[in-house]
Amino acid sequence: MGKIRVLAEDLVSLISAGEVIENPSSIVKELVENSLDAGANMIDIAINEGGIRSITVSDNGSGILRDDCPVCLLRHSTSKIKTKEDIDEISTYGFRGEALASITSVADVRIATQTSNEETGSLVTSRFGENPTVVETSRPKGTTIEVTDLFKNIPARRKHLSDARVESQRIQEVVMKQAAILPEIGFRLLRDGNTIIDCPPNQGANDRIVSLWGIDVAKSLVSVDHSSGNIRISGFVVRPPVSRGNRSREYFSILKRPISDEHLSRAVESAYSTTLMKGQYPICALDISMELSKVDVNVHPTKREVRILDISKVCDVVKEAVRQAFGMSVEVEETATLQSSLDETIGITAEASTAESSQLSSQPSRHNQIAAAPLIEQTILVPSSESTEEDSEIDFLGGVFRIIGQMHDLYILLESEEGLLIIDQHAAHERVLYEQLRKEVNQDRVAVQELLQPFILSLSPKDAEQIVDLADTLESIGYTISSFGGNEVSISTLPEILGRTASETELLALIDRILDLGGKEAEETFMDNLVKVTACHSAVRAGQSLSTDEIRDIILELSATTGKYNCCHGRPSMIRIRKEDIDRSVGRMGASAIARYKARHGLK
Ligand code: ADP
Ligand code: MG
Repeated sequence: MGKIRVLAEDLVSLISAGEVIENPSSIVKELVENSLDAGANMIDIAINEGGIRSITVSDNGSGILRDDCPVCLLRHSTSKIKTKEDIDEISTYGFRGEALASITSVADVRIATQTSNEETGSLVTSRFGENPTVVETSRPKGTTIEVTDLFKNIPARRKHLSDARVESQRIQEVVMKQAAILPEIGFRLLRDGNTIIDCPPNQGANDRIVSLWGIDVAKSLVSVDHSSGNIRISGFVVRPPVSRGNRSREYFSILKRPISDEHLSRAVESAYSTTLMKGQYPICALDISMELSKVDVNVHPTKREVRILDISKVCDVVKEAVRQAFGMSVEVEETATLQSSLDETIGITAEASTAESSQLSSQPSRHNQIAAAPLIEQTILVPSSESTEEDSEIDFLGGVFRIIGQMHDLYILLESEEGLLIIDQHAAHERVLYEQLRKEVNQDRVAVQELLQPFILSLSPKDAEQIVDLADTLESIGYTISSFGGNEVSISTLPEILGRTASETELLALIDRILDLGGKEAEETFMDNLVKVTACHSAVRAGQSLSTDEIRDIILELSATTGKYNCCHGRPSMIRIRKEDIDRSVGRMGASAIARYKARHGLK
């Protein structure tokens, strides 16, 4: 008997489901496309635990006729094409009749739907590919599809899903992309009960982008509309230096279908050319409209890839469109000059900056930090040239001390006639910065550092909301924080004392601490705590090596503070060890003991 056999129908379903449903975001994509095909103009999406626990997509579209209900879950059942010829002229998102069948084979599905020409609606339920049941229900015109327990019947696939945060992020990207392309359609995304995206229907293209990407980006939006032959490129590009550390905000669509295509990304990037800092990528949303016959949407089961027959021509038009949109923009050129002069100031070579950028792009990071910041920090930390004996003397606490140096990159050691002074470098610097910032806040004159490029930080939705709620208070000590759409926030200014050491990781840690404070105390206490936390994050670290000059600066500044003996959290910032005590501990005789010894033995 031969070994080859035809697979059972349910096994075939599971295998093809795997092609369409990779993760929860593929389900959201398919369901949203179905709602769009049904003519909905408002689509409400709610997800729980990254969509793994549940996904609900609700629309006000045409609804599904009662007679179609048992059929719509079957494989290759579609209302969208009938004949072979239809495949060449597809104007709907769906046409394979595979999505609902695939979803039902890997999850628990409930569909509540009602058309406008039937008296009652239908409730369809099906569990993991079982035959569906249909009962009557009543609801306004439209369809709600609820998908729960994804991959519960295939534990191996479920295990391969990412954690809820990553899956939520993927879903959010799917909805954001679709919403950017279709400003006339309303989209709402609720993640574990929190509203992440809220775009009403019938928005203008500009307003839609602002709703999605936030006000910081909005200020730098440039609209694109350019045609060449039968190809038309329309949408938006964002003026540098506002940009991203990766390609996640390069949105492309073809005939209003979201796509991602390396060639298109490279075309836009080359149009930005040197106007972006190394390792930074454009923010854009561009739709390509061209003859349907020049596009093949049949390439990929999830329709994520669309083959453009003459991609190099399209890329040329895209590049032209972006260049033209920017025109000979002065701001664009200024940024380029600013970057090169920054490079000069901090003395980095071309190779060094390339190394920096390849490091950035090889580990895709979401941060948009001012690229020069860490380099500036490095130059500050270069040890000073040979220090002389005199350099190391310093007046402090009414006496003269000699700077011995650092111990374990943690303590500053000072020597005086009387003994040894051990200073906790972090505690001391924190005290200095605390008093400095406190004074600036009191006088309402906080020194603020404007960032060349805002940091874009991705937080949990709850954290994003909370930190934006605190924006007014934070602004009074130098942080300008605003929502960047979804659960991202942008930070465009920082208190100057913090600016030079800021990095994405630093700022995330700082935000955590600020949120821990909660903002629930009295305004004055909260402000004081904010100043403390900021000082703490700005101060030199334990483990940071310091040059003699840097030690001198810290000691001189510490000497001018009022609370020099403690850090701002109340820990001691220094301890003194008297020479006498050291002598005694090791049994060394002091001057008076020597005098007694001499007297007893009649020595001179
Ligand atoms: P396709 O979209 O490729 O036709 P699907 O499996 O996604 O296949 O959907 C099957 C059919 O179910 C669709 O052709 C459509 O008739 C119907 N349908 C699915 N979702 C909706 C919806 N939200 N509103 C109205 N009809 C829907
Ligand atoms: Mg479909």
